[in-house]
Amino acid sequence: MIKAVRGVRDILPSEAWRWQRVEAAARQVFEAYGYAEIRVPLFERTELFARGIGDETDIVKKEMYTFEDRGGDSLTLRPEATAGVLRAYIEHGFHVEPKPVRLYTMGPMFRYERPQAGRYRQFHQVNVEALGETHPALDAEIIAMLMDFFAALGLAGRLELHVNSIGDVGTRPAYIARLVDYFAPIQSELCGECQARLTRNPLRILDCKIPGCQPLIDKAPSILDSLSPEAAEHFEAVRRCLDAMGVEYAIDPRLVRGLDYYVRTTFEVLTQDLGAQNAVAGGGRYDGLIQQLGGPADPGIGFAMGLERAVLLLGSEGEGRELLALLIPVGEAGLARLLPVARALRQRGLPVEIGYGARRLQRELERANRLGARYAVIAGDAELAAGEAIIRDLKSRDQRAVPLEALEVEMARLAQVENGR
Ligand code: AMP
Repeated sequence: MIKAVRGVRDILPSEAWRWQRVEAAARQVFEAYGYAEIRVPLFERTELFARGIGDETDIVKKEMYTFEDRGGDSLTLRPEATAGVLRAYIEHGFHVEPKPVRLYTMGPMFRYERPQAGRYRQFHQVNVEALGETHPALDAEIIAMLMDFFAALGLAGRLELHVNSIGDVGTRPAYIARLVDYFAPIQSELCGECQARLTRNPLRILDCKIPGCQPLIDKAPSILDSLSPEAAEHFEAVRRCLDAMGVEYAIDPRLVRGLDYYVRTTFEVLTQDLGAQNAVAGGGRYDGLIQQLGGPADPGIGFAMGLERAVLLLGSEGEGRELLALLIPVGEAGLARLLPVARALRQRGLPVEIGYGARRLQRELERANRLGARYAVIAGDAELAAGEAIIRDLKSRDQRAVPLEALEVEMARLAQVENGR
C-alpha cells in the first residue's frame, strides 16, 4: 500500500466542513474590511523566496522544497504566501490603485520541518496583506480584523494577542549589538541552538522556547528601549488605535518573529490549548520588502494564520454535514416516483439521499441513522397504491402519510423549520 508522505495529511470529509467554516468566516470578515482575494501560484522561482524571506532564515536555509524543473530552472514550492503576493503586486502594477491595496489569499504552504502535532510539511494558511500605506491606524485595523475573524468563530476567549515593535532597519543593528554584548559573556549558559543564533541571528534568541534560556532572556535589554523616536511614536499610535477599538492585547518585547523582513509592528495570536504549537497567527510590517523584490518603495503589513491550528481549536463542537432526508423507495415503482422528488429537493439546495429500492426497508432505515438523516421518506407498494409516501421523523420516531404530489413542498417546509432552530 502506498501511504501519504510524512508530514502531509488528508483532510477527510468528517473534518472538511470545519475547514469550510473557517474559510467562510475569513472571507466574510476580510471582505467587510475591504480585502479582495488574490490567488497566486503554489511554486515560484527559488530566488524570489531567497530574496523575499532572507537567506539567513531557517525557512530558506533548511526548509524549502526546491527542485529543478525539466527546463533547468530552480523552482520552490511556496513556504509562505507574502513573497508571491508581492511579486504579483509588482508584476501587475497594482501600485497605481488606491492605497492601501488590500489583498487576501488562502491555500497550502510547504516547509520541510520536523512533523509533530499541529506541525506539518504541507500546511495551510490564510494570508492578508495591506500595501502602500504606513499609517499606524492600518496596523491597528488589520490586527482588529484578525481578532474579529477569531471572534466570528467563537474562539476569541481562548486566544491572546501579543504586539511589539521591532524598530526600523536603520536602528536595529545598534540593538542587536547591545543584545550580543549582553549574551556573549553568558554564552555557555544558553542552549546549543541559541549559541549558534548568537553569531548567526542574535534577535532570534528572544524567540527561544527552551526553559533553561528563559531567565537569561527575561533580563536581556528590551528592544522597546532602543526604538528610534519615529518608530516609538508609530508604536504608540498603533496602541492608541487598538485601544480606541477596544482590542485587548499584551505588549511582548520578545516578539521578534522568524522572518528577517519585519520592521516596526509585529504581532502574534497565541493559545494555551495546542501544546507546543502555540502560535495560531502572526504578522507584521515589512516596509522595505516590495522594493527589495524590485518594486516601488511601497510599504506593507500583513499576517498569516495557520488553518490547521484554527480548525484544531474549533474541535468537534457543532454540527457536521447535514442531511435532510433519506428517501427510501421499496422496489422499482417507488424508485421511479421518488427519483424526481429527490432531484427537485436537490435543485432547491436541500441535501437528500436516495436508496435505490434494492435493499430491505429495515436496512435502509439503519443506513438513514448512520448518515445522520433527519427524516426518512418511505414509498413501498402499499403507500404508492394509496398515492402517498410516509415521512418518518428519525428523532421522535413519529410518522405520517403525505400525498405524493405534496411531498416536495412538505419536505421543503420541514427543512425551513429545521433551519429556523
Ligand atoms: P509563519 O509564516 O511562520 O509566521 O506562520 C504563520 C502561522 O502559520 C503560524 O502561526 C502557524 O499557525 C502556521 N504554521 C506555520 N508553520 C506551520 C506548520 N509547519 N504546520 C502547521 N502550521 C504552521
